[in-house]
Amino acid sequence: MPELPEVETIRLQLEDKIKNKRIAKVEVLQPRMINVSAKEFVKRVEKSKVKGIRRRAKLLIIDLSSGYSLIIHLKLTGNLIYNQESDKYTNVVFEFSGRKKLLYKDIRKFGYMKLIKTSEVPTFLDKQGFGPEPLDKSFTLEKFKEILFKKKRSKIKPLLMDQSFLAGVGNIYAQEACFYAKINPKRTAGSLTNKEIKDLYEGLRKIMAASIKFRGSSVDTYVDLFGKEGQFVPRLKIYRRSGKKCLRCKAKLKTIKLAGRGTTFCPKCQK
Ligand SMILES: [Zn+2]
Repeated sequence: MPELPEVETIRLQLEDKIKNKRIAKVEVLQPRMINVSAKEFVKRVEKSKVKGIRRRAKLLIIDLSSGYSLIIHLKLTGNLIYNQESDKYTNVVFEFSGRKKLLYKDIRKFGYMKLIKTSEVPTFLDKQGFGPEPLDKSFTLEKFKEILFKKKRSKIKPLLMDQSFLAGVGNIYAQEACFYAKINPKRTAGSLTNKEIKDLYEGLRKIMAASIKFRGSSVDTYVDLFGKEGQFVPRLKIYRRSGKKCLRCKAKLKTIKLAGRGTTFCPKCQK
């Protein structure tokens, strides 16, 4: 599933391509992928201008001049693709002036695109109960300590992936951050030392910021706005490296299931 760096990559690219552009035409090909009738969707979206593109957790929010916003969750296999022709996986086609198209696609159709009033976006987001944004300036080490303290008994890796604890972190970056901080993913939040907490905080922020620079990690079906794979996978140090040698200590990496999710770690240097 696209995580914070992948969704942020798409947001940055959308900002570059469609901000302040007028949507000349909209075509709904899969009405069940949107929350209103195709007729209403077209009425609220067509001829409006894109005012801005925001991200909260793994959600993209496209604000339109009509007073409505599109909220998109790509879930497992969703894609937003610019300037390609639509195919059988295309749910919605947005056509901009100059015939440039933005496609909303989803092979397995677990994601969604919702049209709601922009004034109702804050309430919608509140209801999701997202935790803090890890790359925000306001997310300090002190803040991280504070939220960890409330979840002392939780296992650290599933906790990092809990969207109500931290927003946008998923299976890839939770494992990478634990590796960076030399923490066994099974440890409880309450067992972490100050040094480990600091390293984990630093790892999360550094790794995700670096991933954005490389346009994210293309595992499974994630591609960027231009249909290109992100370049961060070769820079991942632990994710899907089960059975291979640890890049830090050469021990053999191990994979376990934690809260139902495959988790790779180094039994020697992640204590
Ligand atoms: Zn190791």
